[in-house]
Amino acid sequence: MQKLKERILEEGVVVSNDVLKLDGLLNHQVDPELTMDMGREFAARYAEEPITKVITVESSGIPVAFATAITLGVPLLFARRKKTLIAEPDALTERVPSFTKGIVTDIMVSRQYLGEQDRVLFIDDIIANGDAARGLIKIIERSGASLAGLGIVVEKSFQAGGRTLREQGIRVESLVRIASLAGGKVTFT
Ligand code: 5GP
Repeated sequence: MQKLKERILEEGVVVSNDVLKLDGLLNHQVDPELTMDMGREFAARYAEEPITKVITVESSGIPVAFATAITLGVPLLFARRKKTLIAEPDALTERVPSFTKGIVTDIMVSRQYLGEQDRVLFIDDIIANGDAARGLIKIIERSGASLAGLGIVVEKSFQAGGRTLREQGIRVESLVRIASLAGGKVTFT
């Protein structure tokens, strides 16, 4: 997506060789028009799939997952980051390391909303090492649902997440792929 590349060049802040801040369009402020374009693009790429549900992890994946879900005409389900001590017997939970926060968090999906009748499209904002994706994929598998594939807004190709998932035979569609953040500069593949 050319428009997305331009916005990343204009507004992205390279924090280090590994981290790109995209607060102006993904992680703090949201551009509704651009986000709808992203959702339409993911929906088009997966048009031949009988998707029953779009799934993401709160919070930054939600706007683009919503845009995808409304285009496909299916519900959006977001995994919650668990902060409660109340036991939820009906929940599927996985522990995932957070790339940016340097902590582990538990993500949770209720069995009530995901099951073997579902074919899901997993949308997320950024993929780095793929830990968040692997955690949610485990939850999808344990629910009995099947995974059509992933739609990622920004894939940092110099980190292993996207590549490792593709090697496992999982379809990963990225809107932009970043080859490097070296020298404080965003270089696309
Ligand atoms: P992973 O689990 O693939 O290592 O990291 C994925 C999650 O970490 C993304 O959902 C995103 O929220 C966050 N993340 C990873 N790399 C970056 C980055 O360069 N910039 C920002 N803003 N978030 C990132």
